[in-house]
Amino acid sequence: MGKRKSSAKPAPKKKMEKLESVFNCPFCNHEKSVNCTIDRKEMIGELTCCICQEKYSTAINNLSEPIDIYSEWIDECEKVNDMDGEISPRSPPLTHHDSW
Ligand SMILES: [Zn+2]
Repeated sequence: MGKRKSSAKPAPKKKMEKLESVFNCPFCNHEKSVNCTIDRKEMIGELTCCICQEKYSTAINNLSEPIDIYSEWIDECEKVNDMDGEISPRSPPLTHHDSW
């Protein structure tokens, strides 16, 4: 295993911060434009971008934190992108027999 990780920037010091609940938006790419609200009563976590108004809400559990909801959102976005990437996922392989 000769995997070399080149770290250009020095790793930031780990410090105990208040839980981050503001994130970068995967849609408009604005930094810290996504706010996370957690409704522990309804068990729903919601993300809203204040720039492009993109919204995402998901069911949470007692241990869910803003970052969990956010990473779920990112996962969803990637899934959607994957599906969009395939124009015709069920098209048969190209077999051309023009010998009729
Ligand atoms: Zn946005």
